[in-house]
Amino acid sequence: MNPLEILQKHFGYSSFRLEQEAIVRAVLAQRDTLVLMPTGGGKSLCYQVPALCFPGLTVVISPLIALMKNQVDALRLNGVHAAFLNSTQTPSEQSAVVDAARAGTLKLLYLAPESTFLKELPRYAVSLLAIDEAHCISHWGHDFRPEYLNLAQLRTLLPKVPVIALTATADRQTRKDIVDKLSLQNPAMFVSSFNRANIRYTVESKQQSGEKLLQFLRSRGDDSGVIYCMSRNSTEEIAAFLTRAGFEALPYHAGLDRTVRSRHQDQFLRDEVKIIVATIAFGMGIDKSNVRYVVHMDLPKSIEGYYQETGRAGRDGLDSEALLFYSYGDVTKLKRLAHVPDNEAQTEIAYNKLDQMAAYGDLRSCRRRYLLQYFDEPAPAHCGNCDVCLAEHEQIDATILSQKVLSAVSRLQGRFGAGYVIDFLRGSQATRIQEFHKKLPTYGIGADVSKNDWHDVIRELIAQGYLAKADGQYPLLQLTDRSDDVLRRATTVLWRRPLARAVEHEPATV
Ligand code: ADP
Ligand code: ZN
Repeated sequence: MNPLEILQKHFGYSSFRLEQEAIVRAVLAQRDTLVLMPTGGGKSLCYQVPALCFPGLTVVISPLIALMKNQVDALRLNGVHAAFLNSTQTPSEQSAVVDAARAGTLKLLYLAPESTFLKELPRYAVSLLAIDEAHCISHWGHDFRPEYLNLAQLRTLLPKVPVIALTATADRQTRKDIVDKLSLQNPAMFVSSFNRANIRYTVESKQQSGEKLLQFLRSRGDDSGVIYCMSRNSTEEIAAFLTRAGFEALPYHAGLDRTVRSRHQDQFLRDEVKIIVATIAFGMGIDKSNVRYVVHMDLPKSIEGYYQETGRAGRDGLDSEALLFYSYGDVTKLKRLAHVPDNEAQTEIAYNKLDQMAAYGDLRSCRRRYLLQYFDEPAPAHCGNCDVCLAEHEQIDATILSQKVLSAVSRLQGRFGAGYVIDFLRGSQATRIQEFHKKLPTYGIGADVSKNDWHDVIRELIAQGYLAKADGQYPLLQLTDRSDDVLRRATTVLWRRPLARAVEHEPATV
């Protein structure tokens, strides 16, 4: 049977979606393949269909035992011979699976990355190795799992077996890391668009977030939604708070008793309760299509995490909303928690991710564009479906302002923070500036712009990657490898200034 017939016969779908067909073709040609596709995009079929075309066994590495079971159950319902092997099974269940693999009747075998069975695999006829949630292999990713590093070894055990690595979330560095760690040879890369046009992104300040949340929920009527919180405690508190306010809401976190947890999850999946208040333990592998909103009460730890969590809204394609309550206080708090003793590199990665998340909260330009650029996907300057694009804003070509900032940072040799750079630009009379920097070119060339506006422009430049805040105790402003594009005028920087601010005009204090 050809792949299309298999798709129709075993999965009941009439055609491949978007890139599935090309991916299946690459896998069938036994190429190493890397697939980036948003959650709900249809990654599973990219290895399940080839598994049925190949003569031997397809081994699927998946991090969550619960997920494995769902997938295997679904495959069996479709008449596909699939099984998983893990520690929850009895010895006789395990040996039945092993026998089927040996007999060559089994088509798909799901294993956890820590499975001891991995080293047995060379003795079986393995046709394909599929690695799900492949970003877990990279410490650059937001969900590094050390046991994934075993897979590098697996590669040397099965040198001739092609690999398909799949993930819904990987920035450029993580992608490269996946390719390196799995030694993918000249891989075929498939990066689908990550844009979720039906999701509206909104950020609100965290002050009075409880009251704002109630308002928001009232506006959503009977819709289903997920509310994410940083701590287990706050999921329970907020669920109770919402219940008191007349909403039906249940908490979900890894500290709850297993039966309670799965009952809450089921009630939500079956639409018996509309709101689930959860930690990020909730969601992976959950396929509920009519989630109309995802709210974050606290700042997520990374853009990848945020994008994945918000991506659970609107899988049916209908209009949905992603609302974040943001305060800079969360950044400070999370940085304290993210500090890994004796591991500066890891700490720095975590800080970096938090800074990128904070920049999203501070953003004055299109949020969708920022998110997509994070995943290296080009996007227009305005999406028309985020709070920034929808608000009343005055659009300004900020290229010249940006050049002034970047020149000042360059003249000051990247040794000062935003406050100092702004004072310098505005020609401040402060003694230090007078003594050391008054004679430098660009001193005082920005006296006509308010401090607030300068701060905005700087934030925007950071958000767009034209300027960076150095890590460390003092957030010094520094040029990036993209700064030159602005300085050479090879690119235009657009800035959407709030109209309210445009009318007030703070006189320059020279
Ligand atoms: P992912 O793993 O990328 O999150 P899944 O593989 O779970 O996504 O697929 C998401 C949903 O899309 C599933 O319900 C699946 O059955 C459906 N789907 C996938 N491919 C197709 C297709 N070609 N035609 C119709 N539905 C599809
Ligand atoms: Zn927008």
